[in-house]
Amino acid sequence: MDSAGSPVVFLDRDNTLIANDGDLGDPAQVRLLPGVADGLRTLKEAGFRLVVVTNQGGVARGRYTERDVDLVHARIAHAVDEAAGATRLIDRFYYCPFHPEATVPAYRREHAWRKPQPGMLLQAAQDLHLDLDRGWMIGDKPRDTAAGRAAGVRTVLVGHTPNEGPAADFTSPTFAAAVELVLAQRGSDGLDAARRAAARAKSLLEMKPAYDDRSAAVATAAPSARRTKRSRIERDKHQRTRQAKTALEPLRRALLELVEEVRSDRTRRGELSPMRIAAGVMQLATIVCAVFALLELADLTQFGRWLGGALLTQLATIALLLFDRH
Ligand SMILES: [Mg+2]
Repeated sequence: MDSAGSPVVFLDRDNTLIANDGDLGDPAQVRLLPGVADGLRTLKEAGFRLVVVTNQGGVARGRYTERDVDLVHARIAHAVDEAAGATRLIDRFYYCPFHPEATVPAYRREHAWRKPQPGMLLQAAQDLHLDLDRGWMIGDKPRDTAAGRAAGVRTVLVGHTPNEGPAADFTSPTFAAAVELVLAQRGSDGLDAARRAAARAKSLLEMKPAYDDRSAAVATAAPSARRTKRSRIERDKHQRTRQAKTALEPLRRALLELVEEVRSDRTRRGELSPMRIAAGVMQLATIVCAVFALLELADLTQFGRWLGGALLTQLATIALLLFDRH
């Protein structure tokens, strides 16, 4: 991994950052665990990027939707910032909605993003230019630390006593103690970096065939040439949709965070200023541009223009809201 990248702490979500023993699809039920907000602020001030990686099998079981997951994550991000008196402490959320025994057919499969596999961590490293040699994974389950080890980062199992076995590099009774442990280990990043890099290289090699196998499964499931052709067309269509979703993902997340921000701000102040009304109008323009971008998927030039328009109006919205706040 490029040593110029940022150090990172990957964080499990449920029962590491928030209390959750069941299926959580309601943002109103978000409860941060003690010490989490202060701990995240301390890690951020020490220079770590903070990335949440969470399995969300509840989507596969039909208990809640991906949109609910996004709303819960927007709520967690807001709650952490509010409690820590900071802004954007958590850099990004990754979640895996797939499960091999899903009741919703669209989500029924094994997936390289599903912990204990390290797919989310490796994807984040690529997306955010992270230095995994200086990376950590903090979680409450052995599958969290297994994912961390497979990605070649050091691991802390929280909520456990030190003699509970070799599931992690370190164990810690609380989140706050885990943060102290991570900070105390600074300067010893290179100690077992070679072993961890080897584990990471092995994971990358193993993950590639896992993806290829899934593509092959789509093609080989069709017995006749006609059905194979149709499945290929469907696969191309699916791939284009997925590419468009990936391109629009930052915009979608920004929108959700903005909705959450406006909602909480309105609750606090109970009024709408002219600046915020203008921001609302710009936000509508963003949505319109994004919809047109989606409609122009076949024409990359037009798609790019509409997407550019969406980004510009989104920036204008954010600028208006910042002006309003100050
Ligand atoms: Mg957990």
